[in-house]
Amino acid sequence: MRENLQTVDWDLSRLYTAPSDPAIDTDLQAAQEAVREFRERYRGKLMDEAFSAAELHQAVAALEDLQERVLKTYWYAQLLFSADTETDTHKALLQRIREFFTALRHEILFFDLEVIAIPEDRFEKLLADPLLSEYRHYLQHVRVFKPHTLSEKEEQLINLKDLTGKNAFVQLFEELTASFRYRLDLEGEVRDYTGEELLAMLHRPEADIRERAFSAFLERHGEHALVLSSVFNNILLDHGGECRLRGYGHPIAATHLTNELTHEAIEGMMQVSEENYGLAQEYFRLKAQLLGLPELKNSDIYAPVVSESRVVAFPAAKAVVLRAYRAFSPQLGEIAERFFAESRIDASVRPGKTGGAFCAGMTPSLPPYVLTNYTGTLRDVATLAHELGHGIHFTLSGKQRLVNYHAVLPMAETASVFGEMLLTTLLLSEENEPRVRMAILCAKIEDIIATTFRQNVLTRFELKAHDARAKALLTPEAFCNLWWEENARLFGDAVTMIPPYRWGWSYISHFVHSRFYCYSYVFGELLVLSLFQQYRQEPEAFVPRYLALLSAGGSDSPPNLLARMGIDVNDRDFWQQGYDLVRDLLEQLTSLINDEHGAGHGGTQ
Ligand SMILES: [Zn+2]
Repeated sequence: MRENLQTVDWDLSRLYTAPSDPAIDTDLQAAQEAVREFRERYRGKLMDEAFSAAELHQAVAALEDLQERVLKTYWYAQLLFSADTETDTHKALLQRIREFFTALRHEILFFDLEVIAIPEDRFEKLLADPLLSEYRHYLQHVRVFKPHTLSEKEEQLINLKDLTGKNAFVQLFEELTASFRYRLDLEGEVRDYTGEELLAMLHRPEADIRERAFSAFLERHGEHALVLSSVFNNILLDHGGECRLRGYGHPIAATHLTNELTHEAIEGMMQVSEENYGLAQEYFRLKAQLLGLPELKNSDIYAPVVSESRVVAFPAAKAVVLRAYRAFSPQLGEIAERFFAESRIDASVRPGKTGGAFCAGMTPSLPPYVLTNYTGTLRDVATLAHELGHGIHFTLSGKQRLVNYHAVLPMAETASVFGEMLLTTLLLSEENEPRVRMAILCAKIEDIIATTFRQNVLTRFELKAHDARAKALLTPEAFCNLWWEENARLFGDAVTMIPPYRWGWSYISHFVHSRFYCYSYVFGELLVLSLFQQYRQEPEAFVPRYLALLSAGGSDSPPNLLARMGIDVNDRDFWQQGYDLVRDLLEQLTSLINDEHGAGHGGTQ
């Protein structure tokens, strides 16, 4: 299998031939020249009464052109670096282009500010021109921040002070937690582990190893409670203060605006999630039964139900993933197939290669690339389906302009998670071994629980922490209590939280990096589950509608895009549909367990 894997490397030569390719410099110089021209031509001009729709169209198109050029160099450097992080020329190229990009952003920042500053009546007239139809959504979205944008001087001041304020705390959090090493005695061998290695041990079959690894991880964070709670307090206080300064009614409001979603829609989604916590508890009880444990601790949630001995060779993984996509739509199968045929996938495990997996959707004119670290587990097969889903999404939205190319965050995981559902369905239909079927179902349900219920808990915690910090400084104990309460609502009496889990809040980097990121996971997963229900109900009608949704990229807001599929994000029934599918999966699992139980007792029920 190794030999097989080593051949699955991507070919980046359609971007540039090598890091030393003179075309990189040519593109960067041309971009620099284009920026200079752009500034000369448009700075201060949007305020002009005579500035026409045709000129605005030209300006946005010019902006796209110069960004396309830089993005191509940026992604080439990023892909080179991901495939081999240890080569100095890769690091140097990436760093150089990042700095170039930052400088370029600075140079073109004026454009958004001027778009925002156009008086409302004139802006309406400009937008009414059919010439601007393809940029309408983009321009409107830039303008929604108008009431919350400060003067140029104030914005510059905030940026400057963020460097030693908020950003410094993010940096401190990153450096501190990345420095953690954990000494563990596993089966007589004492050595140091990284946090990532410890969390991976939650998938080990031995209960005591799972608990010791998770405890060690959490306790180390607890030892640094002073620094970590200080980081959290400051991030919360900073955000609260900035929200007031910018006139946001609530700390979550800016995130909703970016995601083009309303508070009502998200609050409805979260309440439906909470009404369905019982489904998670039901699953946890089944899991305890499957593992033969009298009580399920939260370190047991990801324990394997079968000892995974099966290794799926890469060609077999490729075949099954393509089969899953083809069965849904030959067109999607063909798009996925091209990633392999055109060497746009890097699956081999190599020293120095970046961990995890991603799909790079660069610009509409460049084909997307996929990176995974394929080792042959069932999780790896699912990851392959996931990343190819992103690849399909980027390929279909490739007909959009650059400003409409990327779907907004809550919609960005639609095709990837949907692809995983297609794979799960195919695997279940082809698998006869009951224990393996159970393992497939458990993996899917655990995945859904992690992206819906758990992320909902995280979001509630974050909301409460913001509200509490607005009143007073939070002690480490206060953070622990908030965290414990929200998790207890989810787990009920089905799961026993291990005592060090009180520190669970302190390692969630989303809380530190970006406000209210986690609800997008809930949105994305439930959206896919509901779409999948639609697909099962009327497959023929569904496929073209779904392809149209993906092709639309980020050309409209999620509520508008989904309205075209007959979905109303304010309708609680829509979210409930997603959880109905979870109920369905739970029933399948229960009947498998009952069958096994029956068979184990001489076939009697
Ligand atoms: Zn993804």
